[in-house]
Amino acid sequence: MAVLDENIPVFHYFEQLTQIPHGSYNEKELANYLEAFAKKHHLEYKRDGMDNVVIYQKASQGYEEKEPIMLQAHMDMVCAKAPSSKHNFASDPLELHIENGWLYANHTTLGADDGMGVALMLALMDDENVKHPDLVCVFTVQEEAGLYGAAGIDPQWLKAHRMISLDGETFGETTISSCGGRDVILTKPLRRVANHHDVYKMTVKGLKGGHSGDAINQERANANVLMGRILQHLMAKGIKYHLVDIKGGEKPNAIPVYATCLIATDTDITDEVINFFTSVKEEYQFSDEEIFVEVENAISDFAYSREDTWNIVNA
Ligand SMILES: [Zn+2]
Repeated sequence: MAVLDENIPVFHYFEQLTQIPHGSYNEKELANYLEAFAKKHHLEYKRDGMDNVVIYQKASQGYEEKEPIMLQAHMDMVCAKAPSSKHNFASDPLELHIENGWLYANHTTLGADDGMGVALMLALMDDENVKHPDLVCVFTVQEEAGLYGAAGIDPQWLKAHRMISLDGETFGETTISSCGGRDVILTKPLRRVANHHDVYKMTVKGLKGGHSGDAINQERANANVLMGRILQHLMAKGIKYHLVDIKGGEKPNAIPVYATCLIATDTDITDEVINFFTSVKEEYQFSDEEIFVEVENAISDFAYSREDTWNIVNA
C-alpha cells in the first residue's frame, strides 16, 4: 500500500521512484522506467549509452508558437545509511514512512535529491490541464558522482534556450543565477633584465574578503583587481616601469584580501598611487571601507622586460 497520497501525481511518481534502486552508476532500471513512461504517453524520447534520457512533449493547444522550455533533474541519488541498516542500495526498494508530516526512509537517504525533480517532470507531463510550450525534459545520470551525465549528453538533444533545473537546495527558494568555479593555470616564460631603477613595493590590504560564492554579491573589493587597476593607471599616466614581482590572494574560493607588487621605475610613484587609491576607496566606502594601499621602497637586481610587463599588466 502506498505511503504517500496516490491522488497527488507528484507524490505517486516520487513513491514509484523510491521503489527502484537508483544510486549513481545504477540508473539503468530508472531509465527503463522513464522509457516506459514515454512509450505509454506516446512521447518522443532519446536515451544514450550512459542512460541519460530526454523526453519531449509537444506544446499545449495555443502554445505552439511559444519558446520551448527545458526542465532538468538528475536520476541518481546519494546512497547513505545508518550503520545499523542492512539496506542494499543496489537491489532494495526504499522503505518509506511519514512522521509528523515529514517523509522519511528507514535509516537511509530518501533520494528527494533529485527524485522530486524527476517526479515533478513526470507529473507535469502526465497532467493534461497544465498549459505549456514544447517541453524538453532532461533526466541525467551520475550527477552526484561529478555531473558526468550532464557532461556526456548530446547537446543536439537540448532544443531550448531556457532551462529550469529542478535541483534546488532550499525549500521555497529559486536560484536565478549562481556562480561557478573554474581553475585557470596560465604559464608564460618571462624575460628578466638587469635592474638599475628604483624599486617600489605596493601592498593593497584591509579588505574584508569572504567566500567567493557566499559574499560575491556584497560588492567587496578584490585585491588582485585593485592592484591591476593601480598598474593600469600608472601605465595610462605614461609612467614607464618594469614589473619585478606580483602576488595576490590565497585560495581559489576566497575573495583575495591582499596583493603585493614590486615595480622598478625612475619616477617616484608614491603620490600618484596614493591619490589614485583615494578615488578607489570612495567607490568602496559603503562595502569595504578599510581598504588601503601602502607604498614602500624595496630593492631588486632584476626586473621583467617592458614587453612582458605590458603583457602581464594587460592580462
Ligand atoms: Zn541534486
